[in-house]
Amino acid sequence: EASLQKEDSTTNIKDANGIKGHDMLAPFTAGWQTTTLNPLVIEKSEGCYVYDSNGRKYLDSLAGLWCTALGGNEPRLVTAATAQLNTLPFYHSFWNRTTKPSLDLAKELLETFTARKMAKAFFTNSGSEANDTQVKLVWYYNNALGRPNKKKFIARAKSYHGSTLISASLSGLPALHHNFDLPAPFVLHTDCPHYWRYHLPAETEEEFSTRLAKNLEDLILKEGPETIAAFIAEPVMGAGGVIPPPATYFEKIQAVVRKYDVLFIADEVICAFGRLGTMYGCDKYNIKPDLVSLAKALSSAYMPIGAVLVSPEVSEVIYSQSNKLGSFSHGFTYSGHPVSCAVAREAIKIYKERNITEQVNRVAPIFQEGLKAFSDSPIIGEIRGTGLILGTEFANNKSPNDPFPPEWGVGAYFGAQCEKLGMLVRVAGDNIMMSPPLVISPEEIDELISKYRRALMATEERVKELKSQ
Ligand code: PMP
Repeated sequence: EASLQKEDSTTNIKDANGIKGHDMLAPFTAGWQTTTLNPLVIEKSEGCYVYDSNGRKYLDSLAGLWCTALGGNEPRLVTAATAQLNTLPFYHSFWNRTTKPSLDLAKELLETFTARKMAKAFFTNSGSEANDTQVKLVWYYNNALGRPNKKKFIARAKSYHGSTLISASLSGLPALHHNFDLPAPFVLHTDCPHYWRYHLPAETEEEFSTRLAKNLEDLILKEGPETIAAFIAEPVMGAGGVIPPPATYFEKIQAVVRKYDVLFIADEVICAFGRLGTMYGCDKYNIKPDLVSLAKALSSAYMPIGAVLVSPEVSEVIYSQSNKLGSFSHGFTYSGHPVSCAVAREAIKIYKERNITEQVNRVAPIFQEGLKAFSDSPIIGEIRGTGLILGTEFANNKSPNDPFPPEWGVGAYFGAQCEKLGMLVRVAGDNIMMSPPLVISPEEIDELISKYRRALMATEERVKELKSQ
């Protein structure tokens, strides 16, 4: 059924000399995929569902790319965009000229972020640009302080921070580095805080966190604290496989970075705006960052926008040194784009009015407990998550040290089963990731769980067959 559906898809497809394909150099897609397979073309969205070019309906368990928090057809966001397009479709924010929507959104963001006081907001078009901006800000800050050697960044293995040169360098996923001559030399990677995979025999979560914090400290000391500028972390790791932090992790990590005057950057691109059941991931894990990166749910993805929040201490240095340093010569044509800002402001208004964190906390137990009930499956190593984000990792004999042969394509098979059943999930090797729109109803969660169950049963059968061959 799925392959027939793909054969029927005709939008933007060439079929010359028996070669299928389309004209996009497609992101995160292999060349052979675009030349030998037709793409799944999504044409319409409605709540938690999307429809393809054949009219087939899918439950969108990843909210696009972890981003359409309010689902597919929130009329208030459309109205906000249209009103702004009709008034002022564009003006920039360079040279102390700007627009009202960008000023209003900056104010709003500083008010909503309460894990600690933040002083300034800088706007970008994406999460990658937000993280690139972080690096330039931190360098600018250390130059202003007369510390030209304090320039290195520490990120974590399996983190995802974006795909531009710098944000891909920060990311700890080899696929983002291979063939691109990355990471850049000023980026170091420390341990991935994945307890199930990396803990030592008999080591508790707390002990694991202590060991990782010690490893971070050892790395800082080995490199020289005078060379380490900042540490960057997602509160819950997303694209690396959905990895919530082990107990006491952020408490111990924060103590180390403070000790060596290393700035803490919270990459909240996935976690912010209710995903974890708190407004920000920093609220959940008691993180007091110096800098914060935002994107995705900031506008519920209806318009591209990202942001950086800057602490009073960092912005004070930058502002007090501005006579010496000249202008902050960094920014994008679309930094603070008025339509994106108007939509983001409306999205935040909706999160507040509908009490999005309460809504997430009401349905999260159904989602988490319903799916974690499959942890006993003989082909599942671990199911992990919190709030409305969840990862499933397939493993042979349920062991982190015994992966299925990659050529079996266990994760891909599960993903294809879901697609056949009318549900889209994120597959990365044998990791399956889900982060549905925050507006998902209990009934829709039941449907998600039922499709997951059927796909899992089919995948268990498939693994049995492969093992018997
Ligand atoms: N940081 C995190 C934590 C992300 O998940 C992502 C995107 N998945 C990014 C940064 C990059 O955002 P963008 O794709 O908007 O550049």
